[in-house]
Amino acid sequence: MTTTATAPADRAHKAAKRYIYAWGDGTAEGNAQMRDLLGGKGAGLAEMTIAGLPTPPGFTITTEACNDYFAAGEKLPDGLWDDVLEAVREVERSTGKGFGDPANPLLVSVRSGAKFSMPGMMDTVLNLGLNERTLQGLIALTSNERFGWDAYRRFIQMFGRIVMEVGGERFDHALEEAKKRHGATQDTDLDAAALKDLVGEFKSIVKADAGLDFPDDPYEQLDLAIKAVFASWFGRRAKDYRKNQHIADDLGTAVNVVTMVFGNMGDDSGTGVAFTRDPNTGEKVLFGEYLTNAQGEDVVAGIRTAPKIAQMQTDMPDVYREFQRIGQQLESHYRDVQDLEFTIERGRLYMLQTRSAKRTAAAAVRIAADMVDEGTITKEEAIARIEPAHVDQLLRDTFDPKALETAKRIVKGLNASPGAAVGRAVFSADTAVEWVDRGEKVVLVRIETSPDDFHGMAVAEGIITARGGATSHAAVVARQIGKPCVAGSADLMVDYDTKSAACARTGIDFKEGDWVSLDGTTGDLYLGALPTVSARFEDQPELQKVLGWADGIRRMEVWTNADKPEEAAQARGYGAQGIGLCRTEHMFREGERLEIVRDAILVANQATRAKAKRAAGEPLSDDDTEAIDRFDAAMAKLEVLQQGDFEGIFRAMDGLPVVIRLIDPPLHEFLPNLEEQLVKVTKAELQGGATEEDKELLATIKSMHEQNPMLGLRGCRLGIMIPDFVKIQTRAILNAQIAVKRAGGNPIAKIMIPLVGHANELKRTKELLEAEVEAVEAAAGGVDVDYKFGTMIEVPRGALTADEIAKDAAFFSFGTNDLTQMTFGYSRDDAEGGFLLKYVEDGILPVNPFQTLDDAVAGLMKVAVDKGRATRPDLEIGICGEHGGDPASIFKCEELGLDYVSCSPFRVPVARLAAAQAVLTRIAERDK
Ligand code: PEP
Ligand code: MG
Repeated sequence: MTTTATAPADRAHKAAKRYIYAWGDGTAEGNAQMRDLLGGKGAGLAEMTIAGLPTPPGFTITTEACNDYFAAGEKLPDGLWDDVLEAVREVERSTGKGFGDPANPLLVSVRSGAKFSMPGMMDTVLNLGLNERTLQGLIALTSNERFGWDAYRRFIQMFGRIVMEVGGERFDHALEEAKKRHGATQDTDLDAAALKDLVGEFKSIVKADAGLDFPDDPYEQLDLAIKAVFASWFGRRAKDYRKNQHIADDLGTAVNVVTMVFGNMGDDSGTGVAFTRDPNTGEKVLFGEYLTNAQGEDVVAGIRTAPKIAQMQTDMPDVYREFQRIGQQLESHYRDVQDLEFTIERGRLYMLQTRSAKRTAAAAVRIAADMVDEGTITKEEAIARIEPAHVDQLLRDTFDPKALETAKRIVKGLNASPGAAVGRAVFSADTAVEWVDRGEKVVLVRIETSPDDFHGMAVAEGIITARGGATSHAAVVARQIGKPCVAGSADLMVDYDTKSAACARTGIDFKEGDWVSLDGTTGDLYLGALPTVSARFEDQPELQKVLGWADGIRRMEVWTNADKPEEAAQARGYGAQGIGLCRTEHMFREGERLEIVRDAILVANQATRAKAKRAAGEPLSDDDTEAIDRFDAAMAKLEVLQQGDFEGIFRAMDGLPVVIRLIDPPLHEFLPNLEEQLVKVTKAELQGGATEEDKELLATIKSMHEQNPMLGLRGCRLGIMIPDFVKIQTRAILNAQIAVKRAGGNPIAKIMIPLVGHANELKRTKELLEAEVEAVEAAAGGVDVDYKFGTMIEVPRGALTADEIAKDAAFFSFGTNDLTQMTFGYSRDDAEGGFLLKYVEDGILPVNPFQTLDDAVAGLMKVAVDKGRATRPDLEIGICGEHGGDPASIFKCEELGLDYVSCSPFRVPVARLAAAQAVLTRIAERDK
């Protein structure tokens, strides 16, 4: 295929700007590089034309025209209409047909096409230019009266719905009635007379609904259709889609006016959609569907279930071979899998669209790996192409095979998008949104989906449709947004009125609210909520191969947040290179420990005060002595248990760094809730008396109550106020290290002090702990005790004074959960359930800052990195807040020059990919 870096030919224009780029007769004014201006479809058509592939002539009205149209208050820019007329004349010359010419009519499609493909989200009108007169020409030219009337009724239906905003179901209903009257099962069974009647009915529907006659003048039709396509850019489904996919609103859509070619001119005609490789598995086979004697929307909408593309090999072998050759040519030209739309008009093939194919996670990884092996793309390109979300999906749950053995299968359909989904059945997109808003999980059940259902699909766990194939709207969209989907479950009878569905074959039915389990990998729908099991990374060699390449590219290490040996082992299996955060207090809740911890807390303050008295040589009361004994006994037990925990973690992470954070949360988190305890004691008192234990507990809870516990006695403040907690933890860490070393292991311990806002807090804590370290070292019996003290940077003041703090810290780890909370002043416990999501929805905030690192928070981090490294150039710096596993945040961490990101085990593979992509982006930006 030729290269296409040619400068676009200039073109005279009456409008202030050039808004039009045409193609035809083997030449084109645009090319593939002009996606911003021409949209994906326009750029693809231009590119295919230049490459000598068969395309119907036409022209693109640019995305800039769309933006200017809205800027002018939904008015075409001055002069644009004249330029459109001139472009139509060129198409007339190129095709030898006349727009509105009754003898030899030119018909066109008017198609949307944005920079990023938005399948089915915007509008397209086919067969434009038809009226009673041009229809006669079409009939005469094709000698096919039925074809002509069918084209006309389709035009009125589409134009009526899209441009004149008549409810689509009005036409559908009339069509179904006509089929019933004539005993027809398929649309194609209606004859010319029936279709002619239908045209009359359709026009009456338009008149009644829109209050206007259906326009006869082709130019008026064109003008209205162009404006309607522009308007669809701000249609609800397009807006919802863009929001979900993070596509900017100001890109605009182009409009493509393309000569109609007809796939419904008989059995030597057809239309289809195909991918150059299987978009589900990535296998290198032509994959798709096609229908003979049909128009494009029949395949996409799943109105008739289309046979596989391989059938074309039998039906039209020559055309199939040509199509196969073109597919390969386009794939190697674009160096990516292509999604192709084509039409065959009386044995002649026309290409209508080529674009990079949407694919499942499994296919994305396999295709990237295969294309590297085939020598088509580099490893770097392979890494850049895989979406982080894809890696996430590959680690998604499947159903427990044991449960499947006895599960009640309702129906089997097409396995359109893989994954396991469990939810309660709902039958409309609006219900899906409503139910999800009130905290339910839902599976959306539809006869077929249309772009109007997008908002429901986006919130559902999974989607099942009765009609439509692997390239139907439901399938394409579900794959893209990563939802499990079963399509074309032909045996499923869905009744929207009664909000129920039943399978004709199994006889099993279900209604709104019933739990169902959907397996998008196999195409099965089961009754009830089945248990799921997590996807196994070990079974995915291609993913591992690709992530291995990512490891060779990335600069930052990927560590994990793990509190237990099992979690650590899992993360290590996923490729974690260390533990960046072990939250020790998580272990306090396990089994008998909570009781021990509570016992310690009950006397912690008194014991601590008594110990201070004792140290000052003051006399102790009996109560004091008892408190100390009780406290020390609990602490001793806890120390033994914690040492065991740490030994397990060190063994799981042998040879890799383990950052263990000393106790962080406010102590009341380990006590019963104040209100509940109060109710318990009050009730007991009314019924004869509460126990001393319960009363003591209530008194302690009250004494520890804080109005803002997250800003209260927690983190290093707690260690300073009740030093024994951090002392026993430090001893447990170091003794665990000694024990594992003695057993021949290689534990690498780092002790992290949380919530430091002032350098003196860190200094004081270290002083407290250094005595413990010395004691452990003295008793180590020759085993080398090595460790580092570091701190979390999670208080804004800590970030701003990082130069001071770095004097006492060998490493920093950004606790961006708290840093975000304190930078915004938003409670991390409450904001997301309250105003924050509305803020994001209304665009007050671009993203949820607890998910994706906010720039101002990143700014504070930058100050801390710069100041910290100014004091200590070899300061090791990482991040262990939730942002450490978020791809967009990982990009920011790369820019900040962090040494590692630390995230939950499950996100380690995603982080490995994102860290590599961040490097590639940085290099690309540097080379710009
Ligand atoms: C943080 O604040 O980002 C952090 C990792 O600590 P935690 O979530 O435990 O407060
Ligand atoms: Mg924190």
